[in-house]
Amino acid sequence: MSLEIKAIPFARDNYAWLLKDPQTGTVAVVDPGESGPVMNAIGEGRLDLILLTHHHDDHIGGAEALRQKYGARIAGAEADQARLPPLDLLLHDEDRIAIGHDLGEVIATPGHARGHIAFYFRSVPALFCGDTLFSLGCGRLLEGTAQELFDSLKRFAPLPDETLVCCGHEYTESNAAFALAQTPDDAALKQRVADVKALCAENRATVPVRLGVERQTNPFLKARDVAEFAALRHAKDNF
Ligand code: ZN
Ligand code: FE
Repeated sequence: MSLEIKAIPFARDNYAWLLKDPQTGTVAVVDPGESGPVMNAIGEGRLDLILLTHHHDDHIGGAEALRQKYGARIAGAEADQARLPPLDLLLHDEDRIAIGHDLGEVIATPGHARGHIAFYFRSVPALFCGDTLFSLGCGRLLEGTAQELFDSLKRFAPLPDETLVCCGHEYTESNAAFALAQTPDDAALKQRVADVKALCAENRATVPVRLGVERQTNPFLKARDVAEFAALRHAKDNF
């Protein structure tokens, strides 16, 4: 049986993600930037684990309050330990982390933040990628190079097309405008943008999205080399 996944929207455009193993009842949350919306989702249920992708406040802000209420353990990158809440589990590239019967894989994805990590759970399959990969976009290079983020995105290359991309923000509609400006005649992209606009018009989430759809439509995943990737990132920053 695979993990059950639920998006918890909060703030203006953030997502935390709830993961539940239906067999053991184990529950984890990824990137609880605020505790209130997560508590509303869990209620008097349990929370075992808090997974943090990176140190920005909109991803960690609710972690401490959730640990105190539910006794959950907090897991994050040892590399960024100094900027994260006190960690119960120190994570490194290629570590495994158990949620019930599923063993998630830790993937180091520097670029947006030095110690950024992503989590991949193959039973779903789902990728929790924080601010590394967004639907039709990617994270800003706040403290890394284009080469680092390009290499980080390449780490997702072995993952299957059906992987659900569970990212940290609902940025898809604005990303779509940039993507379409790059390749206005791309049929797959035009279809994705139409789907996104329809979802947004009904105030519905555009994520998770299948990684295969992103591979077909996300200009940053389609960049052939780091020079092309860097030029795209630069153009997007000034779009
Ligand atoms: Zn961030
Ligand atoms: Fe963020």
